[in-house]
Amino acid sequence: MTLRPYACRSTALLFASLLCACQAPAQAAKKPALPPVNLNLIVLDAGHGGDDSGANFGDLAEKDITIAFAIRLRPILEQHGFTVILAREPDPLPNTTEDQRAEIANRTHPLACLLLHATQSGHGVHLFTSALTPPDSRDAARDEGRAALAWGQAQAAKVPQSLRLTADLSAALNASSLPILIGRASVPPIDSLTCPAVAIELAPLAQAVGRILEPGDLDYQMQVAQSLTTGLLNWRGHMELDLTHALAAAEAAAKAAEPAKKPEPKPKAVQKPVPPDIPGDAQ
Ligand SMILES: [Zn+2]
Repeated sequence: MTLRPYACRSTALLFASLLCACQAPAQAAKKPALPPVNLNLIVLDAGHGGDDSGANFGDLAEKDITIAFAIRLRPILEQHGFTVILAREPDPLPNTTEDQRAEIANRTHPLACLLLHATQSGHGVHLFTSALTPPDSRDAARDEGRAALAWGQAQAAKVPQSLRLTADLSAALNASSLPILIGRASVPPIDSLTCPAVAIELAPLAQAVGRILEPGDLDYQMQVAQSLTTGLLNWRGHMELDLTHALAAAEAAAKAAEPAKKPEPKPKAVQKPVPPDIPGDAQ
């Protein structure tokens, strides 16, 4: 499928799993809590599947290219300490819907969710972040107290992180001399994800010798997989730093919110009883 920027999707379902301990201000003052994130977990959503074949690449369907890419990327990530969840399995295993894929990612709080696609248009690796507008700080503060966010809008709050994830991935791809294209597009189910998320679309890659590598090419996919792994390792380092700073800020805020302790009263001096004079006791 060729991704079309700003292709919107409307779903009326509500997403309730955003609730976490950090949304209880009274408790937060005593025990700082941050939004849960599994720093070692990556979710790979191989685009299409089942009856949805995606674009055609001669004998291959896009759904076969994306799942092959996910299966090649998974062991490389695992070699670097990541745990990987595939949001769908290869056909003919039962396919998962877009909503189910979003639920898998949202339930597990991964470090990143990569949506994998392929196209015959363009050149190199295309990186798309959600086209949703992030809420301003006042909206974010208001949303902290809400029980649920609208399905299809949940990614908005994560767009800043997703853009930073995109920057880390694109830097790693650039370092490997892979041409990239960066854009904004609401690729399903990206707008329903509550984790940092990027859609990665493989387009044909023209090489210096005049040879063109198609998105299903093994060498091409392995080269991209290595670069994405480097980018995700850098992203994990950035997230660890963010969490350290956020925890320190939360602890400082909790301490400031504690009521001032009254000074403990000084113990009164106790006078030693003077023994009475006993006649005849004098020496
Ligand atoms: Zn596609």
